[in-house]
Amino acid sequence: VDSKTGQLLALHEQAAKLYHHILVNTEMGQPALDYLHDRGLTDETIDTYQLGFAPGQRLLKPFFDQRQSDYQLLRQSGLFIENAQGELRDRFTERVMFPLRNASGHVAAFSGRLLQKADDQPKYLNSPETTLFNKSKLLFNFDLARPAIRQAGEVTLFEGYMDVISATQAGVKNGIASMGTSLTTEQIYAIERTTDKLNVCYDGDEPGQRAIDRALRLLNEHSHLQLSVIQLPEGQDPDEYRKAHGDDAFRQMMVSAKEPPLQFQLRFLRRDRPLETDSERLAYVNQVLPLLAQVDEPVERDMYLGQLANEFQIDKAALV
Ligand code: ATP
Ligand code: MN
Ligand code: MN
Ligand code: MN
Repeated sequence: VDSKTGQLLALHEQAAKLYHHILVNTEMGQPALDYLHDRGLTDETIDTYQLGFAPGQRLLKPFFDQRQSDYQLLRQSGLFIENAQGELRDRFTERVMFPLRNASGHVAAFSGRLLQKADDQPKYLNSPETTLFNKSKLLFNFDLARPAIRQAGEVTLFEGYMDVISATQAGVKNGIASMGTSLTTEQIYAIERTTDKLNVCYDGDEPGQRAIDRALRLLNEHSHLQLSVIQLPEGQDPDEYRKAHGDDAFRQMMVSAKEPPLQFQLRFLRRDRPLETDSERLAYVNQVLPLLAQVDEPVERDMYLGQLANEFQIDKAALV
């Protein structure tokens, strides 16, 4: 770690401490703390993830000014917005702060969530890319999850930070998430260095289902990971499921809702498709065949081919 990187990491650590202090110890932080408690997070979880609050008054800049922090360092941190005069202002205001730690457990960036929905602002705002933060590389919670991933022999990939945090609180500690963007090959390679089994557990809504499909395709193409899908009920995300049903039910669901990727993909391909005409059926079969070709087990592949031939009254020999 060169000294500039070290200084930038120290700056992030101090910012995380300040935001956390504001959340848990001050009047200003109370609404945000109520919000997190309302969402079912315990104080222990809030501490584990060092969650914080950036209030409306911009406090970070004066905090660092008091410490006579270096202007160039502050500029490069991504924690501030610079105006035309080169003046720096806090980037994050009125947001619950999620520190984003790198693989070695150091805070490298933040994601801030709006307390209340606002039409003109994104729900989650991330730090910009910096020398510390490459959003296509970082995996949320990878540092804390690693021992649990090794112990369980598998990792579970969630869609959102709150899903990972909620799962941890329920005792499912091998969860990670990408940065609100789709999964990247760099992230896949990092995961593959730690385990050989991965569960995709995205939201039970339409964007979540599409994201599962995309993730499976990318994972199949770029890894040898043994994949499963954990299918949430329609419209629910994992955090909402835990809130609605509790920790025990959450842990059970994580096991019972697990299915082979192909089962997910076949259902996904068929959704909203009546398959009434020959050309619809032909188009479907043509999309299914390349997926079946990826099944490594000959017996399993043959079984799926048999089902397909049977359902569509095609000669199995014509499919292979
Ligand atoms: P919450 O439960 O707090 O509403 P979520 O994780 O369920 O959050 P989703 O809408 O399901 O949020 O989005 C999944 C993930 O995508 C988020 O955790 C975040 O990383 C990212 N994300 C969502 N909305 C935005 C946005 N407007 N800008 C950037 N990233 C976003
Ligand atoms: Mn979602
Ligand atoms: Mn969600
Ligand atoms: Mn959610």
